[in-house]
Amino acid sequence: MNSRTFPDADTLAVRGAEQSAFHAEAAAATRERFGRRVFVRGVVEVSNHCRENCHYCGMRRDNRSLDRYRAGHDPLAELLVHHRPASLTDVNIQTGEDPVAVREVVLPLVRTLRRETPLGVSVCLGTLNEALYDELQEAGASLYIIKFELADAARYEQLEAPGTLAERVGHIRLLAARGWRVSSGFIAGLSGQDTDEMLENLRLARDLPLDGCSVSPFIPGEATPLARNRVGALDTTLNCMAALRLMRPELIIPAVSALNLAGADDGYQRGLRAGANLCTINLTPSELREDYLLYKRERFIMSEERVLHAIAAEGLEVSRASMEEHWQARPLLAEALAD
Ligand code: SF4
Repeated sequence: MNSRTFPDADTLAVRGAEQSAFHAEAAAATRERFGRRVFVRGVVEVSNHCRENCHYCGMRRDNRSLDRYRAGHDPLAELLVHHRPASLTDVNIQTGEDPVAVREVVLPLVRTLRRETPLGVSVCLGTLNEALYDELQEAGASLYIIKFELADAARYEQLEAPGTLAERVGHIRLLAARGWRVSSGFIAGLSGQDTDEMLENLRLARDLPLDGCSVSPFIPGEATPLARNRVGALDTTLNCMAALRLMRPELIIPAVSALNLAGADDGYQRGLRAGANLCTINLTPSELREDYLLYKRERFIMSEERVLHAIAAEGLEVSRASMEEHWQARPLLAEALAD
């Protein structure tokens, strides 16, 4: 597949030597744009309260078996200001869709990090209102992570993803137009998802004003309506990542920890071989982490040691520049489109 071409069904199904060549092409496109450097960010999961009810997520509001928490500002600030891993250039502050946590914890934490560290600050907080987006931006956050998850509107509604697909896409466009860097993402391998649906996800990712995009294999979440469904195929997920890289070489594409849950110990490293250029170290305090139930309690936690090992094992190196610094050299998509 050449750069900027849209994949076909056969491309998503490739395996064996042909698949290795396809992934190598995507990795080469990544190296051409970013060199051998991989961004390393930390994530703190601040609150597992959520007003949404997505069928694919263990933090959905109908899951009464979960102990809900909101972390405090001070311990997280102490950790990130004074005890963060040396390799970090960016931090992502993540919550369920919980506007209370945004006001009480996230906003003060963004201000503290801006004042006391050189870290680039990303947030992943769900669909909020314009006033809150603006407050977060004024506080110093620059990247908003908001996944569309599924590009099929009927399926989106059926799985009770946040609002409607049109609203979600509207918020992605709104954030980009208001000067945010925006990263989105989708799930690969939901049961019943056929190739056309997978291609629809890629088409939407191609067309949205994005600076980053993830592809996550479907992992059946504990205490969710999809708990008995099959895990999404790792190979298909990796093929989607490679296709995304070749369509949009400029995107920052994370290797998500769920790649290792999708059936193979080397899933994460294969992600780095298929076009990913961002790794995430989980910094959520261990006593809270178990209740941040994206999928299941046995999460595959990416420690600093695991991330650095994966990067070194692939012959790559840690970027010294943050994602923010990388983007500072490039015009915002909204500005570029206006020219
Ligand atoms: S995916 Fe996000 S919005 Fe949906 S239930 Fe989980 S935390 Fe809430």
